[in-house]
Amino acid sequence: MRFSKLYAPTLKETPADSDIKSYELLIRGGFIRKISSGVYSYLPLGWRVIKKIEKIVREEMEKIGSQELMLPIIHPSELWKMTGRWDDYGPELMKLKDRHDREFTLGPTHEEIVTFLMKDELRSYKQLPLSVFQIATKFRDEIRPRFGVLRAREFIMKDAYTFHPDYESLHKTYLQFYEAYENIIKRMGVKYAIVEADTGAIGGNYSHEFHVLAKNGEGRIFYCEKCGYAASDEKAISDEKFIASIDEPKKQLTKVDTGELKTIEEIANFLNLPKNRLIKSMLLKSKNGWVMALIRGDYEINLSKLRSLIKDQTLDFAQPEEVYEKFGVNTGYIGPINVPKDVKIVADFSVKSVVNGVIGAMEENKHYINATPDEDFKVDIFSDIRFVKAGEKCPHCEGYLKEARGIEVGQVFELGDKYSSKMKAYFTDEEGNQKPFIMGCYGWGVSRTLGAIVEQLNDEHGMLWPRSIAPFEVAIIPVSSSNKKMFEFSDQIYNFLSKKGIEVLIDDREVSAGVKFKDIDLIGIPLKIIIGKSYEDGYIELKLRYEEQSKLIDASNLESIYN
Ligand code: ATP
Ligand code: MG
Ligand code: MG
Ligand code: MG
Repeated sequence: MRFSKLYAPTLKETPADSDIKSYELLIRGGFIRKISSGVYSYLPLGWRVIKKIEKIVREEMEKIGSQELMLPIIHPSELWKMTGRWDDYGPELMKLKDRHDREFTLGPTHEEIVTFLMKDELRSYKQLPLSVFQIATKFRDEIRPRFGVLRAREFIMKDAYTFHPDYESLHKTYLQFYEAYENIIKRMGVKYAIVEADTGAIGGNYSHEFHVLAKNGEGRIFYCEKCGYAASDEKAISDEKFIASIDEPKKQLTKVDTGELKTIEEIANFLNLPKNRLIKSMLLKSKNGWVMALIRGDYEINLSKLRSLIKDQTLDFAQPEEVYEKFGVNTGYIGPINVPKDVKIVADFSVKSVVNGVIGAMEENKHYINATPDEDFKVDIFSDIRFVKAGEKCPHCEGYLKEARGIEVGQVFELGDKYSSKMKAYFTDEEGNQKPFIMGCYGWGVSRTLGAIVEQLNDEHGMLWPRSIAPFEVAIIPVSSSNKKMFEFSDQIYNFLSKKGIEVLIDDREVSAGVKFKDIDLIGIPLKIIIGKSYEDGYIELKLRYEEQSKLIDASNLESIYN
């Protein structure tokens, strides 16, 4: 590719809406452009990287016998109603209507669609296990789209689904996916972590997340160097053994009337709320102590609305720094903070006041406020809050937990029969019985990976692409745009390398050498071949992107350039 023809509008300035390094670099390097909140176009450089990520993902899927197909992006509401997720999935589900007033959603994930596809057609145990995947656009109406392609609304995901006669078969395949995912992340050339994960809104039994380590990643990971335990914060916090080992917060709380309701699940049932949406909480602060408000779903935390519900005007919202100081919990922003699903309700409210949407909970001093009920904005009560902190006891051994930050790029789940039972997707087993499929699902964030790699691998000059996914492997830079001999020789190298199948970008633009070096480094090409001063003496320079020193090689021996 000739730079003079490449559509890569690079920028010197940091974009005004930049909230993270990778977003800044992807915009400045001309890889992506924003269309609206959380919606991006991929320009040729960005798309080349996406294609390479897809290629690696596709190869690893095919290696484990998964078959590629393509599912629709627009889903009729009936299928989502069958599983209950039309309501349970929450506001991330983008709902729309057609001209006949029929309801649809833009697919945020495809369990319903793929289960419906197999229902009544995949019939016999003899056809199992079956594994399918697609690489396609997803839409999630994220509450806070941010960090560029890391948390977009429209994004590209590889999602795979497997169908099994039993759990044994599922687990075997789960382990294959685990290994395939580790291969994928290794081939990306980044530092990574694999952690036990919470199954969240997707549901199911067993799950792992794959994280690209990055200090600004949204994901908090806890790990123990002694026994190798590693878990996402949501998982660590809900680890029973771990919870049992933290007595500290319990002691601080004044236990009062527990009423009849004990767990969040029970409250959720009582209020007829989707269970797994009732897990968000935020911290408030009062002059008497800390107050935890539990918020249904991922609703926008409208601070002024919340404030108007609170009669006690001394109550204020905690700043992230304060929360961190007090509890060692890094929220990143003012709530929501994930809490264990099985926190015990020990607040002194009757069931009725819970229904009425009261904010409550307390520490040392009893403290509660009655609030007006509000349909859309249900705030419930609980206390007995537990947090995981670096330095606590590992839940599995004598060691201590350490904390790291990562960007979740992939997750694997053992789903079981959660979807197949509800959708009556059955097969006939060896004895002739009808049984629901046992399923697994496996997501990889293809477009998020683009951002995650830049987030981990960059320096003051720009991106640092690993060779396996760089938009081009080599850049050829003739430093003078007036020296015809240099240009001709650059072309020779370009042809030579291109014939070998190496992806080369030749910077043939009529701009200064300084501009060329800046742009090539910004877009992070792993190797530069510089045809500069020493060319007159028969030498060209080779320079790796992440090394200070360049190497002179004999210009007459092209073979030695690249191996
Ligand atoms: P997160 O915890 O970051 O919200 P998730 O757990 O909701 O992600 P999954 O449902 O596990 O996401 O989807 C599979 C993969 O899709 C994720 O591991 C991630 O790489 C990618 N992904 C999810 N949400 C987004 C998004 N808003 N923008 C870009 N990629 C995303
Ligand atoms: Mg999410
Ligand atoms: Mg997640
Ligand atoms: Mg996930």
